[in-house]
Amino acid sequence: MKLYKIKKSKIDNKGRGLYAAKDIKEGTKIINYSGKIITNKQVDESDKYDNNKPIYLFTLNKRYTLDGDFSWNTAGLINHSCDPNSQYDGKGLKIWITAIKDIKKGEEFTCDYGFGFDKDYKQFPCKCRAKNCCGYIVREESRWRIHKKFAMSKKKKLVNNSQ
Ligand SMILES: [Zn+2]
Repeated sequence: MKLYKIKKSKIDNKGRGLYAAKDIKEGTKIINYSGKIITNKQVDESDKYDNNKPIYLFTLNKRYTLDGDFSWNTAGLINHSCDPNSQYDGKGLKIWITAIKDIKKGEEFTCDYGFGFDKDYKQFPCKCRAKNCCGYIVREESRWRIHKKFAMSKKKKLVNNSQ
């Protein structure tokens, strides 16, 4: 039995998402992330990959990249969340999605897309509605850059409360 169902996404209102078809335990492999193996050189040289935010590209090693930008790559439908319940895992030339929390039947699968923080981050707003959502699709380690102001004002508040 497949662990997922394809439905209209609650996060990306223009697109689809993947949903848990049954209760899933943390650590479960959900689906393979399939695509074409291309060389890193091809990524550098082809117009198709002329994008600062290679949403569907995974660098596998020094030589190869996996391009998952194909309609048959069902795992490509998984949306980004600032509080994801799944992650991309890989070994060798394979990539798959693993649950990083217990996931209830009917929940939408989400991953951290791992985008870096750079000048065009505003092109990719995030609508995940998680409590910790920073408003943009930026990887967890870099979100403090967006949150900087917010984090500072919060700290002040804490100090005030303790007085
Ligand atoms: Zn978010």
